[in-house]
Amino acid sequence: MKSVRGAVFLFVLSSGAGLAQSDYPVKPVAFTAVHVTDGFWAPRIEINRTVTIPFAFRKDEETGRVDNFIRAAEALRGERLENGKAPGYPFDDTDVYKVIEGASYTLSVHPDPQLDAYLDELIKKIAAAQEPDGYLYTARTIDPLHPHPWSGPRRWMLEEVDSHELYDQGHLYEAAVAHYLATGKRSLLDIAIRSANLLVETFGPGKQTIWPGHQITEMGLAKLYRVTGDRRYLDLAKFLLDVRGPDTYTGGDTHRQPSYNQAQEKVVDQTEAVGHAVRATYMYSGMADVAALTGDTRYVNAIDRIWDNVAGKKLYITGGIGASAAGEAFGANYQLPNMTAYNETCAAVGNDFWNHRLFLLHADAKYIDVMERTLYNGLISGVSLDGTTFFYPNPLESKGQHHRDPWFGVACCPGNITRFMASVPGDVYAQRNDAIWVNLFVGSTAEIKLDNGRTVQVTQETRYPWEGAVKMTVTPDQAAALTIHVRIPGWARNEPIASDLYRYADKPPQTATLKVDGVSVPMTLDKGYVDVTRTWKKGDTIELNLPMPVRRVVAATEVEADRGRVAIERGPIVYAAEWVDNPGKKVRNLVLPDSVPLTAEYRADLLHGVEVVKGRAVAYSEDDQGTSKQVSMKQQEFTAIPYYAWANRGSGEMTVWLPNSEAGVTPAPFPTLTNSATVTTSGSKSPLPMQDSEDPRASNDSRFYFDWWPQGTASGGPERVTSGWVEYRWKLPITISESDLYWFDDTGRGGVRVPAGWKILYRDGDGWKPVQNSGAWGTERDKFNHVHFPAVTTTALRLEVKFQATFSAGVQRWRVK
Ligand SMILES: [Zn+2]
Repeated sequence: MKSVRGAVFLFVLSSGAGLAQSDYPVKPVAFTAVHVTDGFWAPRIEINRTVTIPFAFRKDEETGRVDNFIRAAEALRGERLENGKAPGYPFDDTDVYKVIEGASYTLSVHPDPQLDAYLDELIKKIAAAQEPDGYLYTARTIDPLHPHPWSGPRRWMLEEVDSHELYDQGHLYEAAVAHYLATGKRSLLDIAIRSANLLVETFGPGKQTIWPGHQITEMGLAKLYRVTGDRRYLDLAKFLLDVRGPDTYTGGDTHRQPSYNQAQEKVVDQTEAVGHAVRATYMYSGMADVAALTGDTRYVNAIDRIWDNVAGKKLYITGGIGASAAGEAFGANYQLPNMTAYNETCAAVGNDFWNHRLFLLHADAKYIDVMERTLYNGLISGVSLDGTTFFYPNPLESKGQHHRDPWFGVACCPGNITRFMASVPGDVYAQRNDAIWVNLFVGSTAEIKLDNGRTVQVTQETRYPWEGAVKMTVTPDQAAALTIHVRIPGWARNEPIASDLYRYADKPPQTATLKVDGVSVPMTLDKGYVDVTRTWKKGDTIELNLPMPVRRVVAATEVEADRGRVAIERGPIVYAAEWVDNPGKKVRNLVLPDSVPLTAEYRADLLHGVEVVKGRAVAYSEDDQGTSKQVSMKQQEFTAIPYYAWANRGSGEMTVWLPNSEAGVTPAPFPTLTNSATVTTSGSKSPLPMQDSEDPRASNDSRFYFDWWPQGTASGGPERVTSGWVEYRWKLPITISESDLYWFDDTGRGGVRVPAGWKILYRDGDGWKPVQNSGAWGTERDKFNHVHFPAVTTTALRLEVKFQATFSAGVQRWRVK
């Protein structure tokens, strides 16, 4: 098995090198060449292989995503007359492709005959769903007369809007190349080639002109070109980039806004990161690929400018990107809100892809600094430590409304995690002829095959990211002149990112040092690397020492959300204060004065082993109700955990940016009837916002609300729900005579409206009785709707809400007195 795989790689590498005119000036060292043995990544990669990938395949089956291929095949054979429901989304096929890609990566380093056989069967199902001319898109093939509404009545006609036909093909190509390289089997590759040939026949100069609504086809075609040498695929990738924009649409449809899918200008003219963040980073990655393969520097100039914009104005401290939930998009410059930060897990994956490619173009460590920041923080936060629940958005602050889910209706993120985690070791090294770049510090043994045919084994011993000592042993196949570029991370050079967006609030007590064979090397930096050029011989050592004090970070004053606040970092890890570890189960009421010393401590028993940060904070609480609120303060123990590990112990408060003075603090509220109730609802979202003491700004305030969406709307499933309920329960009987309702309503943005009607019931014995409200049950927007009723003594209240037809409903606050 092993020798077969080796032969496949050799074939691809040798023939690929001859076929491609040019490629990246620096070459990645494939993850297959890097055997990770450390305590941080090795267990994660193993959980991904043994838990997440089988789990995601099971979800693909349970949710009908695999059935879609079977149904499409039946339709093609004419066996299916009643075709029933179209797939949930026209991009559901990609959730299968992504997990195949992830599974293939694991197969190439970990033989597993059972998984191999499972993939063979799955690929047969995919093959059977492909139309004779190569078209592969179950959302249409299942029932061409009644395709998914986003697909449009004819092929490609809605591609630039919402059909995702080309997006599906792009993920197919990525999966096919991975499967071919891992197994040497052409089964999926041949499917991809048939599909790509159809695209080549359909699109191009003198044929149809179209740009992918959701980018990735460009990257996928570049990969397909590399393994097949068929230049037409590269030409098509370039064509798909060059025909994008400028879109002149001026209507109101959110998904048609030119900037939503980066069609506001020609790609080579773009200067700012805008629109849907996943599409954007996939496009920038595709531009890097096409630039590398064609030598066209216009793409490079554009993505360099865009990178300056992101690194300087649109990057969260966690490496997350895409601040806005509306359109899953980049926000305006410096618009980096914490609680509503969208930061889709897929956007973090895309950010990593893009920065890695920029590094391969420029050999500059500033891209690896962003990649590492994303990788260790805002990307792996997307999957739980046990590998079975996921975050779609990755916010930097929570009141407890956020929680991980085992799957999503739009399930892009879990699949992306499976393929990403399996390939992380490919980010550790890069090489060119007689040079090696050491980019990440991961306990591992790598067999690095240089372009010049030589092989160098590099072993890293380190407890990174918890300790900054890294010992590397270099073993060339024979003594040879070679430059090893050792990255000195930005965080160890007092520069969180190569921009003025963030800076450390203090000076580092010590600086990084490097020894080669026990002799200190001058720390002369070139593009973030110390370059060690010498004749390396077997057993030579490099000892890197990166001191890891706990640091405070401040953001540029333009970032309103972070003013008067600090974030905590240690090494590459960004910290978060989470409710579980702090007294009173609250953290948003804490102030962390700059004078408080912070120390680090390794806790093997906690969160699969983490370094925690400890100190003392000041806790603020309201100790009185009413117009003149009194606030009390007390000193208490403070503990922060790595951000990536939050929300693994239930839902509650979390914050990354802590106020360093009382100006930014949110005192813990005084206990009221409202916030002391246990709340449950008929919806699936957290009901906690309803009990919050902070007034909403308006009914459409999207910072902190509850709604029943998608219940009541067309996307809420076949059994349309027309009403919802909320219950407040108390341990002891309470007496109540007033209630205030502030409705959530996102007219113009979503499907939630003030209700058609509502009522309040109270618990009486075993039943519910309505309260005797003699006034109106108000449904006005942007205000509290007050009701007054004869006092009732009870242990529970129930709010019943009737939805408007075809709409859902939601509640900003429900207060009772
Ligand atoms: Zn996603």
